[in-house]
Amino acid sequence: MANRNKSTSESLPEERRDKSGTPINELPGIGPKRAALMEKLGVHTVRDLLFLFPRRYEDRRARKNISELVPGSPAVVCASVRNTDTKALSGGRRITLCDLSDGTSMLRAAWFNRRGLDKTLAPGAALLLYGTPFLRGSIFEMTEPEFEICKGQDEASFCGIIPIYPATGGLSQKTLRAAARTAVSEYLRFIPEELPPEAVKKNGLLSCAEALKEMHAPGSPERWKEARRRLAYEELFKLQLLLEERRLERKTCRSVPLTPGRYLDAFTASLPFSLTGAQQRALNEIIEDGASGSPVSRLLQGDVGSGKTLVALAFAACVCDSGAQCAVMAPTETLAEQLHAQALKYLVPAGINCALLKAGMPADARRKTISAARNGSAGVVTGTQALLSDKISFKNLGAVIIDEQQRFGVRQRAALLKNGSRPHLLMMSATPIPRTMAQTICGDLDISVIDEKPAGRIPPETRIIDAGAVPELLRFIAREIMHGGRIYWICPRVEDDENSQLPAAEKRFEWLRKKMPPIKISLVHGRMETEEKDAALASFRDGKTQILVGTTVLEVGVDVPEASVIVIEAPERYGLSQLHQLRGRVGRGKRRGVCVLISASGSDTERLRSFAASNDGFEIAQADLKQRGEGELAGLAQHGLASFRVADLRKDFPLAQAARDDAAEYLKNKQKARPQCRSQEMA
Ligand code: ADP
Ligand code: MG
Repeated sequence: MANRNKSTSESLPEERRDKSGTPINELPGIGPKRAALMEKLGVHTVRDLLFLFPRRYEDRRARKNISELVPGSPAVVCASVRNTDTKALSGGRRITLCDLSDGTSMLRAAWFNRRGLDKTLAPGAALLLYGTPFLRGSIFEMTEPEFEICKGQDEASFCGIIPIYPATGGLSQKTLRAAARTAVSEYLRFIPEELPPEAVKKNGLLSCAEALKEMHAPGSPERWKEARRRLAYEELFKLQLLLEERRLERKTCRSVPLTPGRYLDAFTASLPFSLTGAQQRALNEIIEDGASGSPVSRLLQGDVGSGKTLVALAFAACVCDSGAQCAVMAPTETLAEQLHAQALKYLVPAGINCALLKAGMPADARRKTISAARNGSAGVVTGTQALLSDKISFKNLGAVIIDEQQRFGVRQRAALLKNGSRPHLLMMSATPIPRTMAQTICGDLDISVIDEKPAGRIPPETRIIDAGAVPELLRFIAREIMHGGRIYWICPRVEDDENSQLPAAEKRFEWLRKKMPPIKISLVHGRMETEEKDAALASFRDGKTQILVGTTVLEVGVDVPEASVIVIEAPERYGLSQLHQLRGRVGRGKRRGVCVLISASGSDTERLRSFAASNDGFEIAQADLKQRGEGELAGLAQHGLASFRVADLRKDFPLAQAARDDAAEYLKNKQKARPQCRSQEMA
């Protein structure tokens, strides 16, 4: 949402100029130090701050006299300090106890380990406190209440519905709240309304400025919901405009006409197997799209192991036949390496020069890849998103292939357009997106589905065990490893709590090391540095370790043919599609795959049993749809294909459909009238 009407505001008279682009350090109370912390939250200007939305709210409207407090219900009270005392506790802890009174009754507040608090809370000081009271004897107590020294004018920032912003170390909620309040009162009037008036009227939406005010200082939960709806609608509407522009662009844009030739023939001839019917069909669809030189924009969907990568490589060969180069992008370095290995295996024998670009590669090799991309000697270059950076230039980039659900949303897709010519685009995803949803979030893409797996593949067997069977599981694992198998062990991750995934995986890692001393084990989790993660994955892939303990960071596309067993703890926490993704990691080589679900609760057995009984990802996705609503898939799809700050397709799907209709209507009318709003500016 940045860069609203930047250019137009220059020509306006001073008082009407959009000042919301003011650097954040010019806001009262924000010095260089705080500004630096704000930057970490992505806040560079006052406008950014206005669009930094609270993570949640605290309802502090219940302002009470102490005598009216109800044990267990949070409330705000205003009281003055009678007496403050700090005592040492065992273990070096300190407690500060403060007795307060508001004339109706007494309240005791307790804080732990707050140095200097007794000085702040001098007798006579008036405090606003927010906390949950409980009764000890006949006295109300609050533990660790939030408080502010009461100076009258501060009340608005402490009572009412209080926003809780995303935290960054060193920047207090108080600072953020004060800054946001200033931004709202001083700068909101500069925020232009960007939605067409018809859309605002038809959907009964708040104005943008009203909505922003409500986000930071909600008048009521109902008003806040209206604000959220308005901002979600705006995002969805803009997405639809972008998608429509992409659709139009494809009519006017040119790409390299695809002409299958000797490279594709050599590729096909050198395969040790033939493409499945579904693979062939998908490939034909892609080539047909691009034969006339209109840009391919296609999403290739297929279950894990259905052979999407092979189709993509065939497409790459065809791009080379057409005299152009192909960039292949993976979400992580490890996956990029893996794709490169496949390219080496299947494309090099066909006579295509393949190069890899990754962080931390020797400077020499890196320079070589970069120059091969630039001078055109590399037909296929594989890497991460860094491939599309300004530093890498291709002599003749004909196509971009994107592997697996990653953040390559419509804005990134739009960025591929350069000087009226555009590379072909092929995106791969193992998440089947229902038709209606696909139209709504990636309507600029055509879809091919690979609905058939290579013959002779033995589907993995799924076993459900309980915690009691773990010793037996360990013996089974030891035998597997003896026979050349390797093991993934997936630990639960508690949602919204990044901290708790660490001990889970780490504890299991330590525990397994103790239980299975001769076996080498690696650990991977979301809080590790990328390099650390890549190193752990690499040592597992290369067989230096035989068990890989990790969180669902393993979910996407890891391809280790020797991996034969995947153990999943707490499977009830995952959607079925996600479990299926995980299960797809094993049984890719000679050994039959086994997926072991350790279901502690026994609560989920029906769902898990139906999962164990099916090996068809699309069927499982359908079951997921029924059980969890479209929400689960919407979440997954949204993750990769569209990114929103406010809109959430799990809740806002009907709104998205309305926005789609409205955007189409708007564009139709726009062809008659002068443009008011251009999606590129707004995006
Ligand atoms: P996906 O990317 O869809 O998960 P891959 O392209 O990685 O699947 O393919 C999975 C495995 O199946 C790879 O080892 C690949 O070599 C093999 N494979 C792909 N297509 C075929 C085919 N037509 N016949 C036999 N094996 C195939
Ligand atoms: Mg794949």
